[in-house]
Amino acid sequence: MTIDLRSDTVTRPTKAMLEAMLHAPVGDDVFNEDPTIIALEEKTAALFGQEAGLFCPSGTMTNQVAIKVHTQPGDEVICDASAHIYNYEGGGISFNSGAQAKLINGDRGRMSAQQVEESINPAFDWLTRTRLVSVENTANRAGGSCYSLQQMKEISEVCRKHGVKYHLDGARIFNALTETKDDTRAVGMLFDSVSVCFSKGLGAPTGSVLLGSKEFIRQARRVRKVFGGGMRQAGILAAAGIYALDNHVERLKDDHRRAKTLGETISRLPYVESLLPVESNIIIFTLSEKMPSERFIQLLAEQHIKAVGFGKQTVRFVTHLDFTEEMMGKTIEVLKKI
Ligand SMILES: *Cc1c(COP(=O)(O)O)cnc(C)c1O
Repeated sequence: MTIDLRSDTVTRPTKAMLEAMLHAPVGDDVFNEDPTIIALEEKTAALFGQEAGLFCPSGTMTNQVAIKVHTQPGDEVICDASAHIYNYEGGGISFNSGAQAKLINGDRGRMSAQQVEESINPAFDWLTRTRLVSVENTANRAGGSCYSLQQMKEISEVCRKHGVKYHLDGARIFNALTETKDDTRAVGMLFDSVSVCFSKGLGAPTGSVLLGSKEFIRQARRVRKVFGGGMRQAGILAAAGIYALDNHVERLKDDHRRAKTLGETISRLPYVESLLPVESNIIIFTLSEKMPSERFIQLLAEQHIKAVGFGKQTVRFVTHLDFTEEMMGKTIEVLKKI
């Protein structure tokens, strides 16, 4: 038994998901003729109270397409310093859009409306034009912390007041909503664009949907093609997304329960210095000096448990669809023996 705690992206499609993919009707999506992709786009848009959707191969692409549509070269994007769009998309903000980022040090990845408002530049010729605010929910690098509906709403009001666009990087939005119990529509409608991923907690092999107004998505379709994301008969992949929405959202609470249990064990280990609060399916902890993270990861590997370092002395575990109750028992046993 190999246990993989590196990421919730390591899941393999289930038999039932593969079955759904096998029978999906398909067509050429660049001509907008793939019925399964259209169904996934419409289903996701309706769920989040948006007009239209666009299926993309990755969450990086949905985020980057959104940034490209919302900004012009030289514009500024406001995000938290730990944001995926800034840290883990290969410098895409500048590479793809010629835009720059203004980073905010939020509370475990969550910016406040006041911080956002203070970061928006006045409209002087010599100042960078603030064009977009992006929030990440859950916030990955900050330990899977969740924004409340109220926090997201307050930022949306600041954006509207200053004529700035508002984007949600919702790679793990269903994890957040599992905890906050907020309504998908109530959240989705706050934003000018929303990125939803199916390849993280939802267990699909690939795929994300970008949501927005009809006009926004019309422009986004063109940018997706320019970025090389027109995928033809990709309905087989969209079918996995539809299956995931229907079958893998409810069960996220199991991943969260397991993450909390692991977190409780980890917080009591003698070689652990600190642990970020466990709010969803991500566990980030710092090892004490006598336990270098490389050695810790090696000791786990010897027991067939895969994990990755997340900065100096820090380790991240992520629970997911392929991390079972039995695996949790084994992991706890191994952690206690180290
Ligand atoms: C994984 C992730 C993405 C998208 O990543 P892809 O691997 O390109 O699908 C975007 N934002 C966050 C917060 C993520 O964790």
